[in-house]
Amino acid sequence: MPIDLAAYDDANVFARILRGEIPCRKVYEDRWALAFHDIAPKAPVHVLVIPKGRYTTLAAFTAAASAEEVAGFWRAVTKVAHDLGVEGAGYRLLVNHGGDAGQEVAHLHVHIFAGRPLGPMLS
Ligand code: AMP
Repeated sequence: MPIDLAAYDDANVFARILRGEIPCRKVYEDRWALAFHDIAPKAPVHVLVIPKGRYTTLAAFTAAASAEEVAGFWRAVTKVAHDLGVEGAGYRLLVNHGGDAGQEVAHLHVHIFAGRPLGPMLS
């Protein structure tokens, strides 16, 4: 079934992680964002960064979030990459939007991949 991005679903897995209903391997948390290890890592470092607010996609986030929220979230993403120690060797950010991109969870999340040469952008 295609992912429904029309309305935010409070039962999505990342909403449940934010409420503490299911565990995560936390990397970082501040007022704007939570970062945790992906449960099925695709690289030696695979961390997800999510905003605290109820946004299905990056488009929903940039349309509705305050400037403070947007800045706080992206600062958290780059802080996490810095704190993971991967800036020197390099890392990749990925945001999936919708079915063709393979978005599985309808709560905005930025993937941080690192820890080995990551190859071409698409394969
Ligand atoms: P996407 O395909 O961009 O929607 O990515 C969703 C990601 O969430 C996948 O990489 C999953 O492995 C990851 N994921 C799903 N459930 C969990 C969970 N409970 N804890 C951590 N990562 C998860």
